[in-house]
Amino acid sequence: MNSAVTASVDTSLAVLHEVFGYAAFRGAQADIVEHVVAGGDALVLMPTGGGKSLCYQVPAIVRHRAGRGVAVVVSPLIALMHDQVGALEEAGVHAAFLNSTLSFEDTQKIEREMMSGRLVLLYAAPERVTTPRFLAQLDSLRERGLLSLFAIDEAHCVSQWGHDFREDYLALNVLHQRYPGVPRIALTATADELTRADIIERLQLEQARVFISSFDRPNIRYAIVEKDNARAQLLRFIQDEHEGEAGIVYCQSRKKVEETAEWLSSEGIAALPYHAGLDTEMRKRHQDRFLREDGLVMAATIAFGMGIDKPDVRFVAHLDLPKNIESYYQETGRAGRDGLPADAWMAYGLADVVNQRRMIDESPAGDEFKRGQRQKLDALLALAEAHDCRRVRLLAYFGEGSVPCGNCDNCLHPPATWDATEAARKALSCIYRFHQNGGQRFGAGHLIDVLRGKVTDKVTQFQHQRLSTFGIGADLNDLQWRAVLRQLIALGHVRTEGEFNTLELTSSARFVLRGEVDMLLRQANEAPGRGKSARTPRTARDKPTPLPLDAQGTTLFTALKSWRAEVAREHNLPAYVVFHDATLAEMARARPASLGELGQISGVGAKKLEAYGREILRVLESGAG
Ligand code: ADP
Ligand code: ZN
Repeated sequence: MNSAVTASVDTSLAVLHEVFGYAAFRGAQADIVEHVVAGGDALVLMPTGGGKSLCYQVPAIVRHRAGRGVAVVVSPLIALMHDQVGALEEAGVHAAFLNSTLSFEDTQKIEREMMSGRLVLLYAAPERVTTPRFLAQLDSLRERGLLSLFAIDEAHCVSQWGHDFREDYLALNVLHQRYPGVPRIALTATADELTRADIIERLQLEQARVFISSFDRPNIRYAIVEKDNARAQLLRFIQDEHEGEAGIVYCQSRKKVEETAEWLSSEGIAALPYHAGLDTEMRKRHQDRFLREDGLVMAATIAFGMGIDKPDVRFVAHLDLPKNIESYYQETGRAGRDGLPADAWMAYGLADVVNQRRMIDESPAGDEFKRGQRQKLDALLALAEAHDCRRVRLLAYFGEGSVPCGNCDNCLHPPATWDATEAARKALSCIYRFHQNGGQRFGAGHLIDVLRGKVTDKVTQFQHQRLSTFGIGADLNDLQWRAVLRQLIALGHVRTEGEFNTLELTSSARFVLRGEVDMLLRQANEAPGRGKSARTPRTARDKPTPLPLDAQGTTLFTALKSWRAEVAREHNLPAYVVFHDATLAEMARARPASLGELGQISGVGAKKLEAYGREILRVLESGAG
């Protein structure tokens, strides 16, 4: 290694210690930082919570200290800029944002700071960055050697493949054309190859070094349960494992979001709704509260999410099936950014499979697109029905090999399986008999009644007790039959049709009928309240308290948290921007007695030590008293 590079590594590490108070870079961060500090272009693919921000913040600071001026951060979410900038200022880094929420005077003031080169980082939305006026300002900075780098956050927004596409991102290639010597770093948590190729092409990053991190999120525990009164299941999950903690509950429709928020609140769990149908003001208020308050649950559609950088979201629950594995991974990835234990929990059932298939069938898209969508849905269904390690399957989907993780439901409680080959044949022949017997079609509920030999009004009306398949499935219960049907629909042997989701055989059903297809299913869970539940409560060790604390430690932690809440309120910032839970917990455990000792704790940088050190020591002292 030559001395210039060594110097850069040392300088970057010094910045990491001094400004952010962290001991070491994580994973690829060190290489990325070194590359960008030296003036290289980079494309960074890292999972949510991987630590992307430092990949451009540290180079921005290092280059600024070397007299290279301002780094421009392009970010799509003006709602979050305030907190991002607040976090930097708390750490003693001069940063600002420009967006439409600012007054004319404030805008002018920030522009002056920028043009003088005093600013270290400037955040702006793409539509602003590409205006002639802003570009003229960048020209002037560039001429004076005061344009240090461009960071393009959420770079997948440039790709039309994802649902986050933003027209304005397309114009960002001007940065390369107009400022060829200024390093650019593009960052995203979207892993698939199509999107990656799109980013490289559209942002003209052909020369950039690509850094791909493992997409594993080891602290997230994946669990997928069969729906059996999903509300009660969700309630139990939150009450047993996440009482008083922040989480997101994803639902498909706006209506369900509102109902879920209302219902959770009525059950004593502080919850708010968020979806695109609420007015901007309310959405903003709910998002702010979620970020700032402790332990709120947000019931939301997928409109809520991108850029939610709250580190202490302890769970993400899905009450409806997401579109595909990409969406599932992105949504669940919002849990546990701070690296502490977190849960990704999903309840899914027959209706989910039916609905998702129908949405694809009925969409106005072309056949090829629909085929692609169906394949993606199939991959997700296979994940949901899997009896082996969920993480191995997830990572394999993104092209990463791994071994069973020990931290998913299937690893922790290997599910029993049963051979459903015969049951599947019975179900298919029953559907076939319906059809023979007058050409009528029926839904899943009636089919199961007939299989189980229940004499209902409908059975009598259609004389279905006379069918040879009546009662041939009495040995299985309702849940087991639903699992069989779900699997048959998921595998495409049965289709559902029309308003009543009536069942119809597809051409591949004959292979199952002939006994050529084996079907091994997860053992359906026992009904709630009877038998043993598939869940085991977390042990105290698993509980996402940042550290095991003794009684005094817990008292100190609580005292530190209420001190932090006060500071956060004063500064109009979310609490985690002042200090993370993990940092406070370490303080409560180590009980530093001097500023020197306090400064050793991860997350305590020089500026925060200076600003808060004495107060923290006082809180620790009086709490310990
Ligand atoms: P991303 O943008 O990739 O989702 P962030 O940049 O928000 O992730 O980082 C996730 C969390 O990890 C943040 O709370 C950040 O402070 C923390 N973090 C990042 N890098 C390090 C590091 N090297 N040491 C300790 N904590 C880190
Ligand atoms: Zn596993």
